[in-house]
Amino acid sequence: MIKAIVGANWGDEGKGKITDMLAADSDIVVRFQGGSNAGHTIKNQYGKFPLHMLPSGVFYQHTTCVIGNGVALNIPKLIEEIQSIVDRGVPTPHIMVSDRAQIVMPYHILLDTYEEERLAGKSFGSTRSGIAPCYSDKYAKIGFQVNELFMPEDQLRSRIENVCTIKNTLIKYLYNKPELDPDELYSTMMEYKEMIAPYVGNTESFLHDAVEQGKNILLEGQLGTLKDIDHGIYPMVTSSNTIAGGAAGGSGVPPYAIQDIICVSKAYSSAVGAGAFVSEIFGDEAEELRKRGGDGGEYGATTGRPRRVGWYDCVASRYGCKIQGATEVALTVLDPLGYLDEIPLCVGYEINGEEHQNFPNTTYLYQAKPIYKKMKGWKCDITGIRKFEDLPAECQEYVNEIERQIGFPITMVSNGPAREDIIPRTPLI
Ligand code: GDP
Ligand code: MG
Repeated sequence: MIKAIVGANWGDEGKGKITDMLAADSDIVVRFQGGSNAGHTIKNQYGKFPLHMLPSGVFYQHTTCVIGNGVALNIPKLIEEIQSIVDRGVPTPHIMVSDRAQIVMPYHILLDTYEEERLAGKSFGSTRSGIAPCYSDKYAKIGFQVNELFMPEDQLRSRIENVCTIKNTLIKYLYNKPELDPDELYSTMMEYKEMIAPYVGNTESFLHDAVEQGKNILLEGQLGTLKDIDHGIYPMVTSSNTIAGGAAGGSGVPPYAIQDIICVSKAYSSAVGAGAFVSEIFGDEAEELRKRGGDGGEYGATTGRPRRVGWYDCVASRYGCKIQGATEVALTVLDPLGYLDEIPLCVGYEINGEEHQNFPNTTYLYQAKPIYKKMKGWKCDITGIRKFEDLPAECQEYVNEIERQIGFPITMVSNGPAREDIIPRTPLI
């Protein structure tokens, strides 16, 4: 059985928690896109861990964690992250890295930083992890796949020389910064080779065998639909496909083998970085939700930046689930909302005086105003509740209404950050 766990919204929906929970019954957990630019926060018997490069299955000894070909791989970050969890008492995880994954090079990080500096106030809010430059080079076919670290020296040096010629033009004339030295780059790559060698393998063939043997495989997405390079709020998106459809490309599993697509959607909205955010709230109202949201507030797992917050957006989430091809929805982080008398739900967009139910392209999205339906709050703490019927009636109705609005079955409700804080639910649709 292959399941994909993906985000319906802007990311940070709690995919890490759901993956960690489902990894208990999984043989393999696969990352198929993104890099160290996003974070999953996981809370379990070992403590609280912000993961960036590592798949969320690393806490189980029976699980092999695969970093697929679609990932932008930061080798030193990966090694550092493995060490940091082992140092905190987690048994050494089983990790396999695709020999076709793209390497995030030191100059990708530099170029990301230089570009953000150049854009100054108009920046994309990049985490400066080198992801966009890495993916740009991948598509321009001047990137480096992991296997290239193992090619004969003269061949690799000639590839490096070529890349330096291109990059140095940009670095010298556009950014006015120190140029790259091909020899230094070669030595860095040899260090990378030594670091990554124990983990490299043919992950496509490993996954194909696993599919044939009927193993349980989880495909773990990073970010969500609205940050997808094609279907998101372009250009304020990430540089890869965050959708389940991209999971086949980014891992090599056959598309028809993905039978279950669990779309994770948070019970209110949060977003990192710039871009249109129709149901965003501001001021004290936002500060209150930000402070109470997630586990210890809505602040980035990678950057610590305060996340933008807003009310649940049914228009964006319906679109998010559709594009993911959701077979079921996990509605997460419901517990922080217990302080509100009324909870606004965004159930439509007004654009040029007309009501819209479909999520528009970026041009129209900037003009969209939220249409709210006010739901009654439940005014109590719902943590620790394990049955849907035991939730306050207003809380059940909030979930039921979201399900009616988005039109996808909500099968799980999460009411706390820990593995066991999960309520199974029988969908009404
Ligand atoms: P991801 O990027 O989708 O994996 O999500 P993040 O880990 O970045 O953000 C989700 C945050 O919410 C994390 O700090 C989780 O520990 C926390 N979290 C997940 N589910 C719940 C929940 O049901 N309730 C609360 N209060 N926190 C949750
Ligand atoms: Mg996150």
